[in-house]
Amino acid sequence: MIDLHIHTSASSDGQHSVDEIFSIAKSLGIKAIAITDHNSAASIPKGVKIKEKYNIEFIPAIELNTEINGEDLHLLGYFIPYKNEEFIDWLKGLNGVKIKQSLKRANLLKKIGFNISEQEVSERCKEKPMSGPAFFYFLQEKQENLKLLEPYITGNKKGKAAINFYLDFFDSGKPAYLPPPFIKTNEAVCKLLQFKSVPVVAHPVTVSDNSLFKAIKSGILGLEAFSTYHKDDEILKYKKLAEEKNLLITYGSDFHGDKVKPHIKMKLYNSSSLDALKKLKEKAEEIK
Ligand SMILES: [Zn+2]
Ligand SMILES: [Zn+2]
Repeated sequence: MIDLHIHTSASSDGQHSVDEIFSIAKSLGIKAIAITDHNSAASIPKGVKIKEKYNIEFIPAIELNTEINGEDLHLLGYFIPYKNEEFIDWLKGLNGVKIKQSLKRANLLKKIGFNISEQEVSERCKEKPMSGPAFFYFLQEKQENLKLLEPYITGNKKGKAAINFYLDFFDSGKPAYLPPPFIKTNEAVCKLLQFKSVPVVAHPVTVSDNSLFKAIKSGILGLEAFSTYHKDDEILKYKKLAEEKNLLITYGSDFHGDKVKPHIKMKLYNSSSLDALKKLKEKAEEIK
């Protein structure tokens, strides 16, 4: 019925335009969607504009990279004030730090033999930082880089190539690793609440229980219990935890398109998701 976690090409690792997202959702019979780009609200105005044409309910949202206990916690924010200048400036600040990091990363890749320059990356990421997969495709534009990328293009790392590339070069301890320059989770939660948006932990299985409990204490309002990242027992675990802590339960696929995350499809969750959406909307009203 709904999918509250979808990326467009405004995410550095997203593939589809807003129009394409709506038409995929329509073809699947999805009734409500949220676009949740990484640290960006750039696709939201378009979504608001075309939602009626597709007759799909649309929730303006975002997915922020935040840091808690040294872990990268993805924080969803629902009903963001995408027109509010102060909000947009805040996002720009967050992105500026990440763009600087993309430039540093270009230098690290150059050091290990890739043909890439800070200048080129700076031109390419004027508005959004370059993610691991984006670097992977960018490097392939030059013939000289294909030899080093051979395992990911034709070799044994071809399946989930962009993710394998990320793990081999950008993960902790790898040659182009840089510590994430993320805002602290509790700071991001405070900001979202200040902007009357509903903070929800995305795919909670990607952080330790310890960090998750800390995030709950910092004032998050929901858990994305229904995620394509979760096995059935994990769905139950996070659903139960949300009920115990009086938190919202949300449903999201984390769809990016087949190019980057071929194993994740946009998802048509069952009718209980509609009830969850109703509660999410009530909560948004409550914190206004
Ligand atoms: Zn995420
Ligand atoms: Zn996501």
